[in-house]
Amino acid sequence: MLEKRKIVLVGAGFVGMSFAYSLLNQGGINELVLIDEQKDKAEGEAMDLSHGISCAPSRINIKSGDYQECKDASIVVITAGLAQKPGQTRIDLAKTNAEIMKEITKKVVSAGFKGIFIIATNPVDIMTYVVAKVSGFPKNKIIGSGTVLDTARLRYILGEYLSVNSKNVHAYIMGEHGDSSFVPWTHCYIGCKKIVEVLEDRHQDLTVLDDIYRDVQQSAYEIINKKKATYYGIGLALTNIVKAIIGDENQILPVSTQLDGEYNHKGLYIGVPAVINSNGVREILKLRLTQKEQEQFDFSWNTLDNVIKETIDPLL
Ligand code: NAD
Repeated sequence: MLEKRKIVLVGAGFVGMSFAYSLLNQGGINELVLIDEQKDKAEGEAMDLSHGISCAPSRINIKSGDYQECKDASIVVITAGLAQKPGQTRIDLAKTNAEIMKEITKKVVSAGFKGIFIIATNPVDIMTYVVAKVSGFPKNKIIGSGTVLDTARLRYILGEYLSVNSKNVHAYIMGEHGDSSFVPWTHCYIGCKKIVEVLEDRHQDLTVLDDIYRDVQQSAYEIINKKKATYYGIGLALTNIVKAIIGDENQILPVSTQLDGEYNHKGLYIGVPAVINSNGVREILKLRLTQKEQEQFDFSWNTLDNVIKETIDPLL
């Protein structure tokens, strides 16, 4: 199935096109099809991107199309829907975007799609749940972008703070891609040294970790206030997930995946570190959380659970 390396992108907006542009630059796929309810926009974006192919690392066939293109696709990436406006939380988008996810998922499945879904539309954990319910696909084939972007932001900000390459920051944000996320700091390493020990050796107060998390959590709001939307970071994060699947990489990424008893919870989709390969989610990493971290996880889970019970389940 993966031989074809065909990706269908539904939603040719800021996020979708940042992903497409990053994918074109990184190479590794054969075909990219853009679908959007604004057909002209999808067509124009496909033309614009195609004109850069001769400068890209490898040849990719790029075009706009309809849902029939999903039949033989390896991966369908969904970035369609409303984005946050200044002052809105991601949860505020739940009902409208759930209706959009329902419509898109039905069309993708009716076309005969057998591959892996990746969802980025917000609130992403809830939208991933909607796609899972409507498609009936096995849980390994349903992947939300989860806290991959939040984690990348954390690694960047921590790396800058400590003057260490962000690739050497081994830390994850877990839980909802939203205000209730948290960092299990006891599992955070700089290189192979615990962050707590790094800070102690520098005689630095550990409360700086709270400030760093707050900066990460607020960064989406700050960007939206300044430039109305965030898209380059998530574009790269989506490319990372796609490449982990296409390349059968067994890469550990904090995606939104369905829990089945891990972290004492079951049923919903939420950001946890998981091994990603050509089958999608191979397995979830079960960290031994401290009591405080488990309470933070429970709070995040309950936040999603409440919205799903009150707003989403009645729509499905
Ligand atoms: P955008 O408005 O630029 O693009 C959305 C696109 O979806 C538009 O082109 C629109 O025509 C299309 N669309 C809407 N309904 C559709 C339908 N039924 N079928 C097909 N296409 C449809 O918005 P954006 O900035 O690209 O954001 C897209 C989504 O990504 C938002 O929900 C946003 O909150 C989310 N997002 C997620 C993350 C993350 O980390 N997961 C980060 C940033 C943004």
